Amino acid sequence: MQPTILAKYPFLPEAFDLVKDESMDEILHSPAFNRARELGVARVQRALKNEDSFLFIDERNCFDVVLSFFISKAIVSQMNDSFLLRRHAIFEAKNAYHYLEEESRETADAVARSLGIKRDRNGVSFVTFLKYSPNAYGQWKLANSRLSGGMVEVDDHTFLRLVQEAVRERVEGIKFSVDGLEKTLDLGPIRAELANRKVTHRADRVELESFPPCMKSIMAQIENSINVPHQGRFSLVAFLNGIGMKEEDIMKIMAPIPDFDDRMTRYQVEHITGKEYSTPSCDTMRTYSLCFEPDGLCARIKHPMQYYEYRLHVSSKKV
Ligand code: SF4
Repeated sequence: MQPTILAKYPFLPEAFDLVKDESMDEILHSPAFNRARELGVARVQRALKNEDSFLFIDERNCFDVVLSFFISKAIVSQMNDSFLLRRHAIFEAKNAYHYLEEESRETADAVARSLGIKRDRNGVSFVTFLKYSPNAYGQWKLANSRLSGGMVEVDDHTFLRLVQEAVRERVEGIKFSVDGLEKTLDLGPIRAELANRKVTHRADRVELESFPPCMKSIMAQIENSINVPHQGRFSLVAFLNGIGMKEEDIMKIMAPIPDFDDRMTRYQVEHITGKEYSTPSCDTMRTYSLCFEPDGLCARIKHPMQYYEYRLHVSSKKV
């Protein structure tokens, strides 16, 4: 693959071959690598802020761009924060998806093959489909797909979405740590951003203790960047709105969703909160398989709001 292609997909093994002979000392200290270091820090910052990062790539900057990916992985290792690890992998996977959308079928297939995904004329094997489906609902349910001879028919968008998941997994799995990184790179803004996020989250935890198990579980899935189905997102937003949480705070809770799109999520949140939809009852939650790990109190209530109000009432008596 050409270096200009590899710069768009620096997580591929072929891209590592481009930079593997460089000395780490040079990469960290030489002015020749200033741009690569800057780009490496920027990759992590943009991942944290959930921003896109489409770089103009040509023969002159492709080496720096590939190197910046490995520097960003070294920064993520240094931070040792599971949220950042996931967020960075999602960021790189989304960027790859957008680059792939512009590629010829031949190039997209070459990138996919390097990740272990093969497409024939009409589709991918059902094993690949199951392995890289972002969730098991709607179009991603095997029962809703056209299956023939062990192959699942996929259109271009679906194929690239599977590749996106493979990229996320690959990026998350790449281990790349470098000694003395913090002596040469200013990681203060990244640490501050991570600390700020934790403070915000702690503030929410005051009420979180009284949440019913179903809502705690949906939040934990979102926190872990698991793709929660629409009904789960809807129930959580309606619940958070029902207990009086502000839209901005709800948006922060939804941010780790893998396919988070600020504009679309805001639209959905505003739609749910504006119409004052109420939280589904426990019966409805069960119907959608969203009643996770009910506890003793659950046996005595019929609605997640009832659970929350009871717990709040009990904890206010303890104060
Ligand atoms: S019983 Fe109701 S409140 Fe309890 S976990 Fe299930 S849906 Fe939530």
